Amino acid sequence: MKLFCQNNHMFPKDNIVYFLYDYDFESNRDYDINKIYCEICMLKMFKESDLSKYLEIMYKIPKDEVFVEIKRVNKKRLKVHDSEYIEYVIDKFQLNKENLLEEVQNRFGDYELFRMFLKGEYSQ
Ligand SMILES: [Zn+2]
Repeated sequence: MKLFCQNNHMFPKDNIVYFLYDYDFESNRDYDINKIYCEICMLKMFKESDLSKYLEIMYKIPKDEVFVEIKRVNKKRLKVHDSEYIEYVIDKFQLNKENLLEEVQNRFGDYELFRMFLKGEYSQ
């Protein structure tokens, strides 16, 4: 059984502290966990695909550049995984995830705004 927050982040079951069936009137759907208990929604950790997109916007490294590196190691590969893209950009610019998270917390302070920024609907 999988549990989800209002923003569709999946919770590993063994991490569940609060299990609250509820209804989100904005999105008209049921959810299992209120977003205030979700570490991704509270900007306490990154969802991998969000971080990957954020780095892509901020550091402008084309996915193709990373793909070339991956192909060099394994010719059969067809795509770049988010985790690989993140690792590549972090390595290249000597970043660390804690600092990036702090940057996002300070800049947006709110997951909805962060998501809008990733979708190109918000700039600041
Ligand atoms: Zn969430």
